[in-house]
Amino acid sequence: MDADAIIIGAGACGLMCAAQAGFLGKKVIVLEKGSKAGAKILISGGGRCNFTNLYSSAEQFISNNQHFAKSAFKQWTVEDTIGFFETYGIQGKEKTLGQLFPEDKNAKDVVDVFTSLCEDFGQEILCNAQVNDVVQTAEGFEVLFEQGDKQQVLRAPKVVVATGGLPIPKMGATDFALKLARRFGLNIVETAPALVPLTITGKDEEWYAQLSGNSVFCEVSNEQISFEENILFTHWGLSGPSILQISSFWRPGKTINIDLLPQESITSIIDEERASNGKTLLSTLLNRYYAKKLTDALGKFLPLDKTVASLTKTEIEKVHQTIHHFVVKPAGDKGYDKAEVMRGGIDTDELSSKTLECKKVPGLYFGGECMDVTGWLGGYNFQWAWASGFVIAQQL
Ligand SMILES: Cc1cc2nc3c(=O)[nH]c(=O)nc-3n(C[C@H](O)[C@H](O)[C@H](O)COP(=O)(O)OP(=O)(O)OC[C@H]3O[C@@H](n4cnc5c(N)ncnc54)[C@H](O)[C@@H]3O)c2cc1C
Repeated sequence: MDADAIIIGAGACGLMCAAQAGFLGKKVIVLEKGSKAGAKILISGGGRCNFTNLYSSAEQFISNNQHFAKSAFKQWTVEDTIGFFETYGIQGKEKTLGQLFPEDKNAKDVVDVFTSLCEDFGQEILCNAQVNDVVQTAEGFEVLFEQGDKQQVLRAPKVVVATGGLPIPKMGATDFALKLARRFGLNIVETAPALVPLTITGKDEEWYAQLSGNSVFCEVSNEQISFEENILFTHWGLSGPSILQISSFWRPGKTINIDLLPQESITSIIDEERASNGKTLLSTLLNRYYAKKLTDALGKFLPLDKTVASLTKTEIEKVHQTIHHFVVKPAGDKGYDKAEVMRGGIDTDELSSKTLECKKVPGLYFGGECMDVTGWLGGYNFQWAWASGFVIAQQL
């Protein structure tokens, strides 16, 4: 045997697992396809790494089994994440909505914590090592990989698959975990891009394109859920945090509702203006809340050059509908090239929630994004990656 375990993937989950195994005196070898460890951590949060969320719980995760992540989150809490990084000099600072970023450090410092720990513990991280297969043997597993043009094999009683999801193929994302799971007869929950911008095509495309670059605070919702954050208009559709959030719950053919003034009532605002200064133009009133470009664009639906006093009941209702119930039917999404995470993945029914060991293949573990546990935007996905990496390390 070459090690106590082979970890496939030096991403957030694999690195945490290797470091935690080190604390427990276990020797692991990490095989990473890319040329460096933690590539996705390095680009996360615009290079600043939103490494957890103060309010993270199983509720901010999408999964066929909403309870599955609870055990891991009990074993490794948000406080554990915060304490862990503090120990290595990274203080968390809340940006907004519980999102913690390193206060005066960046994503590279986060990766350095893990690579230094691995070095201290003598955990090897082999880069440019693409794993092609895992074979079960009487003693455990053989992990077949290529490094350069050399085909190699490592043997260990346990294997951890932490190869992430499908987003950003040009960074080397692979479907390795899904393929391997299928080969071992595990069920896969249908995968799709999530936390992804949505596209608009057809007759509405131009209307959105003219607003490209404008951002506005909104409530975006569908029949399942709502999010209050900014949306960003682009020349191909919609992006921004609210849109990324709802994209994980959106399905092709479905609409989303945008409330362009979520914390107020446009009807009350019009009523008040009618009482104080009925001569105000609807455009002037809307310009108090929106960039002129957006107000002008809303002119496609609203009589902007009428005074508020002259608006009919039907027109006021139309203003209300347009502002509070702006219905969008996205044509699609921007795909894995632009998605932050993958929805779906290895069915959680196939794994023990306490250990993340595969029920059908003892000794084989899956962690991180390859599983059907998908977090909202805001540091939740890293919390899952750290927690699942920690949980698996306890089993090695
Ligand atoms: C642009 C962007 C920004 C993001 N920002 C944030 C953020 O700020 N906060 C947050 O919580 N989440 C963020 N995420 C999501 C987060 O990065 C992922 O959810 C997290 O990295 C998943 O961890 P993981 O260990 O499962 O997979 P990854 O971190 O993707 O690691 C998987 C590793 O496995 C390697 N690999 C794949 N196949 C093989 C193979 N066959 N052999 C060997 N190695 C292989 C890959 O090269 C990769 O290094 C962001 C994602 C993107 C794309």
